[in-house]
Amino acid sequence: MMLGMPVTVRADLADVADYVAGKKLPGAIILSSNELSGPAPASVLAAIADATAEVNRYPAIGADDLMDRTAAHFGVDRARLAVGCGSVGLCQQLVQALCVQGDEVVFGWRSFEAYPIVTQIAMARGVRVPLVDNAIDLAGLLAAITDRTRLVFVANPNNPTGTVVRTAELTDFLDRVPSNVLVVLDEAYREFVTDADVPDGMGFLDRQNVAVLRTFSKAYALAGIRLGYVVAAPEVAAGVRKVQIPFSVNRIAQAAGIAAMDAEAELMARCADVTVERIRVRAALVDMGYAVPATQANFVWLPLGERTAEFNQHCLDQKVVIRAFVGEGVRATVGLPAENDAFLEAARTFPR
Ligand SMILES: *Cc1c(COP(=O)(O)O)cnc(C)c1O
Repeated sequence: MMLGMPVTVRADLADVADYVAGKKLPGAIILSSNELSGPAPASVLAAIADATAEVNRYPAIGADDLMDRTAAHFGVDRARLAVGCGSVGLCQQLVQALCVQGDEVVFGWRSFEAYPIVTQIAMARGVRVPLVDNAIDLAGLLAAITDRTRLVFVANPNNPTGTVVRTAELTDFLDRVPSNVLVVLDEAYREFVTDADVPDGMGFLDRQNVAVLRTFSKAYALAGIRLGYVVAAPEVAAGVRKVQIPFSVNRIAQAAGIAAMDAEAELMARCADVTVERIRVRAALVDMGYAVPATQANFVWLPLGERTAEFNQHCLDQKVVIRAFVGEGVRATVGLPAENDAFLEAARTFPR
């Protein structure tokens, strides 16, 4: 027995990075979190308002209506589906469902900042494989797989660079990955992909070791609601559901998700507008002399290296909030035309 000793938390938590959210700057243009600009559709807001009437009651434990609707909407078997508290929540559940202490999780770097965080929280070991030309290096991921590897995250398109892996290379990669290693295709930006050679991960689900992760946070304009879904082999999906915090997809999220699928046409039209703006924004930046990789997501990546912090401050001075990865580069969401104009003006006036 220890008398007089304080309660301590796990020492290894000191090494877990904090998830960095976009800055809140009143009155500023927010291009920092890859959200869809403008409010969710009116029909979705109405469904959310309706759902608030019953917030004294717990939501459906299995999110039954949402599960049924999601399965039908995306044409997947319900047994292969899990919904979660954002796809971040599902990333964490995937690691928890597959890994014991010391197991390895492989991912490109830089990629989605949640991957190392959820990995460490689950006491697994993150293995970072450097990007090559701003893109996920599939050969590098393959070479990093060991007997301890349980899971590989592949964000396609990649966040924060917007780059993609294409059908032939991804198929070849999946052919070579050991069958007991789960490849999680994180398709948070799938709805913004216009290149026909970027595969829909759902097409790989005949493989038992592939999972496809999607979110309502970006194209569906529901980042504040926290809702995502994963489609995988039934036994993987069951494991993901098992480790979920009960009721973590709340009553309002369940209603909002269903309404957002009902409003799909309106939302996809907004996504299409973003993909048109994306071409204009990137071309303007390239014209100014910035090296911006081709992007299939709703954001652009400026690999500014040493000048990242300075560029970020310059944008903040002009009331444009973007996301800076100090020493590496900045990521700017493609928003509405006027918002993009403000960002482009900041880029134009940045002293170089
Ligand atoms: C934004 C993003 C997500 C979505 O996270 P949510 O928790 O659903 O908001 C997932 N993966 C990647 C790569 C992202 O950029």
